[in-house]
Amino acid sequence: MQTLFDTDIQKLKGVGKKRAELFAKLGAPTVGDLLRLYPRDYQDWSEITPIAEAGIDEVCVVRGQVIGPPTEQRIRGGKLMHRCTVTDGEADMKLTFFNNRYIPSLLKEGETYLFRGRVGFTGRTPSMVSPEFAPQDRAAEIVPIYPATQGLATRSIAQAVKNALAMLPDALEDPLPAEVRERHKLCYLGYALENIHFPKTREDLEIARRRLVFEEFLVLQLGLMEIKSGNRQENLHPIPGGFPEDFTRLLPFKLTGAQQRAIAEGVKDMAGPATMNRLVQGDVGSGKTAVAAALCWPVIRSGRQAALMAPTEILAAQHYKSLSGLLEPAGIRCGLLTGGAGAEQRRARQGISSGEIELVIGTHALISEKVEFKELGLVITDEQHRFGVKQRMALAQKGASPHMLVMSATPIPRTLALMAYGDLDVSVLDELPPGRQEIATYLIAPDKRKRAFGYVQRFLDEGRQGYLICPLIEGDESGMISLEEYLPKVRQAFPGVEAAALHGRMKPAEKEQVMSGFARGDTKLLVATTVVEVGMDVPNAAIMLIENAERYGLSQLHQLRGRIGRGKYQSACILISAAKNPESVERLKVFKSTNDGFAIADADLKLRGPGDFFGQRQHGLPQLKIAGTSMDMELLREAQKCARRIYRSGALEGCDHKLLRDEIRRLFEKTGSERIAL
Ligand code: ADP
Ligand code: MG
Repeated sequence: MQTLFDTDIQKLKGVGKKRAELFAKLGAPTVGDLLRLYPRDYQDWSEITPIAEAGIDEVCVVRGQVIGPPTEQRIRGGKLMHRCTVTDGEADMKLTFFNNRYIPSLLKEGETYLFRGRVGFTGRTPSMVSPEFAPQDRAAEIVPIYPATQGLATRSIAQAVKNALAMLPDALEDPLPAEVRERHKLCYLGYALENIHFPKTREDLEIARRRLVFEEFLVLQLGLMEIKSGNRQENLHPIPGGFPEDFTRLLPFKLTGAQQRAIAEGVKDMAGPATMNRLVQGDVGSGKTAVAAALCWPVIRSGRQAALMAPTEILAAQHYKSLSGLLEPAGIRCGLLTGGAGAEQRRARQGISSGEIELVIGTHALISEKVEFKELGLVITDEQHRFGVKQRMALAQKGASPHMLVMSATPIPRTLALMAYGDLDVSVLDELPPGRQEIATYLIAPDKRKRAFGYVQRFLDEGRQGYLICPLIEGDESGMISLEEYLPKVRQAFPGVEAAALHGRMKPAEKEQVMSGFARGDTKLLVATTVVEVGMDVPNAAIMLIENAERYGLSQLHQLRGRIGRGKYQSACILISAAKNPESVERLKVFKSTNDGFAIADADLKLRGPGDFFGQRQHGLPQLKIAGTSMDMELLREAQKCARRIYRSGALEGCDHKLLRDEIRRLFEKTGSERIAL
């Protein structure tokens, strides 16, 4: 059947070849895709806030009568500036406009308009800079804002969407079967498309959005279930033997309950009919390495090899040191393989192919064509979000269906983990080994920075090292702190202290050099962007200061803070922020109150909704069109339940689910191909 997804966008009035290219760039080469190019936002002129109630940093619409004609002024750089004051009878608001010479003719004294913008304060008077404005009768309109591109404004997109909606057949077929819509109280597709683009009221928009978000979550979940079942490979070398008690005797400590559970789950997988595909998720310091070693043990005992891939040379070397220290005395031969073409690498490769090396630890150098295993039985990747699924698979290809273990330090609430890692089984290490020091966390305003530096100095005086984190590399108009301006200030504030900069634009070799200087303890202060998030393990670093802390998500802050508190020293984290808006303040307060990664992930989920999580590309999931805006956890759960029901009943294969299958294919073919190709 011909559908709108086969209808070229050029069929629309006003769309020629040139425009069609621009639409294609936005991901809408066909009329069907255009209908699913949802607004990224709406200008809602329907809700008017009294000026007296307008809160700082909020975007609102106010109604205001212009008091006195706008004043005109030339400012720096020849820029034109207009100012005027408006009132809603109760309170005044000051408005400033830049470079719009039409202001005096557009805003007439005594007339009333609607103004929409972000609220600031000029002294104690509320103000807006360059607000949008409209005549009073605009009230009640909800205007869609599209992800415009150079040469294609949001208005033109809206017009094209209007024309596309007019092409929808009356009896539009819905990928959600009527039974599903009824059960979950979802509206019909036609209604949803009309109202996601041009809602008359907020309620209509909500109804439309709910249905489309549900559909997308459902499609995502079903796609992942398909992949997961496709991934199930026959276990060619089942490993019997149960829990590796003899391994635990090698450890200098007693395993936590969570570690024991994860090991038991892995051992059971490897003895079962299908190969192991397991994610071990545990906060920094939860002891994932011991779990990995415990699972290598039976594999190697059964005569096959294990490989552990880490994202950086430093991490690989660290793993090699601790694992060989533990396993070599028990007679297991370990090897290290990192990049480079030296004799050492050659020897390592030889040992791997002869089988002399039974456990090899390395970087992505392990994937190189030159590396051949005698008999690879287990592949482990550490900090998996740094590796694409492809790299993981490339390593697996070096064996005949080896078992797979992925270790991740990013705590994800269980409901989301099941979805994000739809292709893996999940073990959670939700318990830290006993005796860990809590990291003390403080939140201060920028005017207290000097005292904070004094506090850092005290750590340095005791021989500790520290991280100073800035959001930007170079300064920009955002006014946020940049490395470039910060580093000289740090050097001035800490005379005679060795400080170095680390950021993402440095060459890998440079980065590696700075990091190892810090790891050796030669560098005392590392002034860095978030590149330090992953992989730095310097137990002597006990103090961290984070500038513009409000600009990070909770999980990111948690990853950053995880760089300290790794040794025996009492550690402290200082957040510097001037943020006043309630959401940021709440976020920083939550962060201050706990060190528990899962509690933080849960709070993050509550504050930002599940959509935000799926919006982040790092999970390797396909890019969502609308569910990325969802705050509704309940809806996600409903969609998950629904997906399980459809999947188990086998209905997905049936012809009444063909459109749903098309949606799955469409979602995964565009961006998530990496995963669907597993
Ligand atoms: P991560 O989960 O961050 O990879 P590691 O595996 O590096 O954590 O473990 C962190 C530290 O905790 C290591 O020094 C390790 O030896 C130690 N450790 C791991 N498990 C236990 C345990 N059950 N009891 C005490 N110490 C442990
Ligand atoms: Mg680790």
